[in-house]
Amino acid sequence: MAKVESFDLDHTRVRAPYVRIAGVKHTPKGDTITKYDLRLTQPNQEAIDSATLHTLEHLLAGYLRDHLENVLDVSPMGCRTGMYMAVIAEPAPDDVRAAFEKSLENVAQHGEKIPGVSELECGNYRDHDLQNARAVARKVLDQGLIVQETINIQR
Ligand SMILES: [Zn+2]
Repeated sequence: MAKVESFDLDHTRVRAPYVRIAGVKHTPKGDTITKYDLRLTQPNQEAIDSATLHTLEHLLAGYLRDHLENVLDVSPMGCRTGMYMAVIAEPAPDDVRAAFEKSLENVAQHGEKIPGVSELECGNYRDHDLQNARAVARKVLDQGLIVQETINIQR
């Protein structure tokens, strides 16, 4: 089976919430694609319920693109502790941290309508929790985002 870089991260030696470079790829045509680990809660201590994470996905998909150029994708982690974000080029971790912080502020202050929530636009449109999404964003901001270095598991 192919090796997956996120399985090498020592999840016991990170301090969430944080922003971390999870991987950098160079395409055959010379472009760079960077994958970021945008961690919202401490791994193995606290997970976000799926309705809340789903709403965070819908909101961050728009807000991160407002604050950062060339965002390819923002997707929730299966462990429900954060998001992965793929970006063209290699923005500095501190710029990504600032963009994520602004986006979470936008989420915390978001109004009543979640974008893309209808049977036409979403695959599980009933499964959302805006109130808790706002609360999670506020909590993350209160805790303070850091730039986390990657510490690999010693095997
Ligand atoms: Zn959806």
